[in-house]
Amino acid sequence: MTDHDCQRHLREYTATRTRPYHFVDSGLPNIYLIGVKYRVCRKCGSQAAEIPAPVKLMNVIAEAIVMRPGILSGPEIRFLRKRAGKKAADFAAMISNTPEHFSKLETGALPLQEATDKLIRLTYGLLSGDADLLPKIAAKVEEWYKSIHGKKVNSIQIRSGRQGWVHIQQTTLSPGWWPRNAEF
Ligand SMILES: [Zn+2]
Repeated sequence: MTDHDCQRHLREYTATRTRPYHFVDSGLPNIYLIGVKYRVCRKCGSQAAEIPAPVKLMNVIAEAIVMRPGILSGPEIRFLRKRAGKKAADFAAMISNTPEHFSKLETGALPLQEATDKLIRLTYGLLSGDADLLPKIAAKVEEWYKSIHGKKVNSIQIRSGRQGWVHIQQTTLSPGWWPRNAEF
């Protein structure tokens, strides 16, 4: 409990590229939104954003994760598994992992191997029911099997605009990894 009513101390902002909204409710530590309105309590600093089309947004975040180079982080594994609607033990069984091992992957206690990384992405794609994502994964499968080290992605930025949610390309990415129609 706080000693004040946040509703009485709100200030509204619009998230910009230079001052994006840190979307901690995504369950991921590095998701930043642009183009959304958000309110900050001037007393305690608590924030809340207006999120249009939240399901679409979560799909775009999942796609950004599935299609990104490098190795998935623990929070990203957990995010994809939850989006797929699976309990940890069930998802672990699908990718031939023990629940104990899979739990350590989600917490980051164990490193994720390349093959398991790609299997998680494929499994998410198939379970997600996201018809936009499947063809993009299909186009990547061969590359994934050959695959290798991408550069690290420090943040993922998703912009709200007239055409809905759009993942913004990061300059730290290796060229050729992202769909040709991705916006810059
Ligand atoms: Zn407050």
